[in-house]
Order: sequence, then C-alpha cells, then structure tokens
Amino acid sequence: MALRLYAATTSQGKLRDFRTAAEAHALDLEPLPGIETIPAPEEDGLTFAANATLKAVYYSRFASGELVLADDSGLEVDALDGTPGVRSARFAADAGVVDSHGAKHITDVWNNMELLLRLAGVPAAERTARYRCVLVAARDGVALHTAEGSVEGLILESPRGTGGFGYDPLFYLPALDRTMAEVDLETKHSLSHRGRAIAALLAMLAV
Ligand code: IMP
Repeated sequence: MALRLYAATTSQGKLRDFRTAAEAHALDLEPLPGIETIPAPEEDGLTFAANATLKAVYYSRFASGELVLADDSGLEVDALDGTPGVRSARFAADAGVVDSHGAKHITDVWNNMELLLRLAGVPAAERTARYRCVLVAARDGVALHTAEGSVEGLILESPRGTGGFGYDPLFYLPALDRTMAEVDLETKHSLSHRGRAIAALLAMLAV
C-alpha cells in the first residue's frame, strides 16, 4: 500500500507542487482533512525551519497516527543581509506601506516594489539572492524529518514575465536567461526550492 502523507496547506499552488513530486514516488499525498476549519498557528519563528516545524507539529495533532507535512519558504537577498527571509510574505506590510490583509496579488506587487526600493543603486552583480524552502514531516506532535531546497538567482531592476507568484517576476535565473515568471511550470517544479525540498524529503522517506 502506498505511504500516505497529509499536506498542511490550503495553497492550491503548493498542493500541486507537492502532488507532482509525490506522484513520481508512488506516494499518496492529500490535503490535511479539515484544514480549512483549523485555526492557523502564529508563524513567529525566526527561521524557515522553526516555522515549518511549528506548523508540522501543530497540524499533526489533528490527524492521529498520520504523517503530516508542512513547509515554510521565502526569499533571501544577500545585499539585504538575507532579508526578507521568513518575513517574505509580509515585507511591505512590515515596512508599513501596505495592509497585510490585502488581496494576495496586490500584496505581491507591493512586496516587489519594496524590494526594488531597498535595492535601488545596488549593481547587478551584487543583487544575488535565493529562494529557500524547508519541509518538515511530523506525526502525533513529533517532528520526524526535515528537508531543505534552494535555488540561486539575481534580483532584476524591473519585473519580467506574467507567470508564477510572489517575487517571481524579479527573480532572474542566469543559466536560463529567464525570470521565474517566464519559465513553464514543469521547469519551475524541476529547479525550484520547493521542488528540490520535496525531492529531498521523499528520498529521506525512502519511497
Ligand atoms: P510561505 O511559504 O507561503 O510562507 O511563503 C512566503 C513568501 O515567500 C510568499 O508569500 C512569497 O512572497 C515568497 N515565496 C515563497 N516561494 C516563492 C516562489 O516560489 N515564488 C515567489 N515567491 C515565493
């Protein structure tokens, strides 16, 4: 029987990423039953690992005996000392330029503008950055496995492309001469931080 893993996310995009990877490993990956009605925990960890762990541990208590997967991810910009990091989703809100409860795509636009503002005057070669993702699998309130994935890139001076989400239009992949918002989904899955983290976790589960 295929090993079952519950994903603690309501994001359709993340679920699709997790499923794509799981299918290749004959793993049964389902959204955690009832997740929409479970109050979300405060993501107040200082690292991606801390947030992914607190989420996996918390949500695993809602599915007795089951393996539950949670993630945290974000963008680290070297010229900004690794920020926005765990604050990636709330970068503009933290700066006070936008309400953190706004529509997702509007928040993304403000986050991108905040990033461009902070990097104004920083030369191209110094605009190095990476997306990072940490995944944790837990059972009955105990974290059992942690895996990580990252992808390196450069932050452009203006957005390019219409695909993806978040910082993708500014995240340039030199080897492909494209931004993350310009690559097709299959390519994104194969090289993204999330795709790499999932592959590492599934290898760890030896499925
Ligand atoms: P979380 O893992 O949902 O907490 O994601 C945090 C934030 O990091 C997102 O809201 C985005 O701003 C950014 N982020 C994470 N992964 C990606 C990605 O694949 N593309 C673009 N932005 C991302």
